[in-house]
Amino acid sequence: MKVIEKLNAIKNKEMTARENVENFINVIDEKNDSINAFLENNKAKAIEQAKIIDKKIANNEEVGKLAGLVFAIKANINVEDVIISAASKTLDNYIGSYNATVIENIIAEDGIIIGLTNMDEFAAGNSTETSYFGPTQNPAAPGRIPGGSSGGSAAAVASQMCDIAIGSDTGGSIRNPSSHCGIVGFKPTYGTVSRQGLLDLSMSLDQIGPLSEDVSGIALALNTIVSYDESECTSIDWNAPDFTSILDETSLEGMKIAVCKEFIDVTDEEINKTVNKAIQKLVDAGAELLEVSFNHIDLCLPTYYLINYVEFFSTTRKYDGRDYGYRIEDVCGDEVLRRIKIGSYISQKEFSGKYYKKALQARSLIRNEINTMLENVDLIVGPTVPKLPYKIGEKLEPLEIYAYDVLTVIANLAGIPAGSIKAGEVEGIPVGLQIQAKPLEDLKIIKAMSVFENI
Ligand code: GLN
Repeated sequence: MKVIEKLNAIKNKEMTARENVENFINVIDEKNDSINAFLENNKAKAIEQAKIIDKKIANNEEVGKLAGLVFAIKANINVEDVIISAASKTLDNYIGSYNATVIENIIAEDGIIIGLTNMDEFAAGNSTETSYFGPTQNPAAPGRIPGGSSGGSAAAVASQMCDIAIGSDTGGSIRNPSSHCGIVGFKPTYGTVSRQGLLDLSMSLDQIGPLSEDVSGIALALNTIVSYDESECTSIDWNAPDFTSILDETSLEGMKIAVCKEFIDVTDEEINKTVNKAIQKLVDAGAELLEVSFNHIDLCLPTYYLINYVEFFSTTRKYDGRDYGYRIEDVCGDEVLRRIKIGSYISQKEFSGKYYKKALQARSLIRNEINTMLENVDLIVGPTVPKLPYKIGEKLEPLEIYAYDVLTVIANLAGIPAGSIKAGEVEGIPVGLQIQAKPLEDLKIIKAMSVFENI
């Protein structure tokens, strides 16, 4: 049953919100010890919330747009009265004292929060192996990483522990685990979902977004979490569309989609084959296929990581041991420490404008080129991740790990929307199709993903 069908079943009294919550709790109780998708649970509150919703439905009172749907939240988003650790020992005692704006929005529409999910420490990674609380298993590819950094959110969806999960995406952290776990994930246009209440990794790149088993779950979540937030300076005030309006479409007639040669060149051959079949399906649905070229692919990872190091270093200065438990440098893992050290070094050298300023210039170049590519096409389509997820415990060099991000960081550097949907499998392991569009043309991606799912 699709997420939107379940929503209607709850509203039509064919199923209660409480049943929905309890079914998920049973799965979590049965499987979470082995999968390690959840770090914190909110079960008691979830059941209480479900009872209230069921009462309203029984009394024929009006309910919210998400009535009775169950959400899992990445552990770097503030939820009141739950430990928000960001999977770090630094914050393992930090209890959320308020709800992030996205959480407020979800609860206001009668969405139910069931718990907080595992992730890479402070979202700095793409494997979920750097969590202080141990790795998460990939439910779709046992023994392998689920991707990251929102790996717990993706695994929770892929193992039927929730209807919709919320993650954050700074350089691919929603799309990468969605690709590896074979689900749908979406990073909205920068600024369309409030970041208020998110623990930053790199604030000029961070974006909150949804993960779900099908496109209807993504569209329903977007209808609630895309909202203007006065309290946040980067929030965009726009006329957001109804993302569920295109869910029944089966044609992409009139839409121009493009593959990019340089994206294909950096991707494993078997993945390209699977992704090409998926692209052919979009063509069969009526899309016109073009080819574009991107000259700055080599600049993307250095630019992304440099900006990430500097912004992350700056944001970690508040974890000095006075307000939130431990001093971060004393307890964090290797990758977080690496970013703090390099970020500190670059920040000190900054008077000479040696690195950061150059990275910002490179970022403009990348953004301009992507926008030029998108001038004549509606969508850029291609692989989400260039390689298959590796085995848990396998030792990779930092640069080999960073290479997994080459196709996803572009959307964050440019601020454009991007989604990932399961294209197919290679050796039984899921592979994602990534779809990117111009800023604020998020609906076109949702439409293409929906058509892909429907045909
Ligand atoms: N893997 C990338 C990084 O390590 C992206 C992380 C993210 O999107 N949060 O920074």
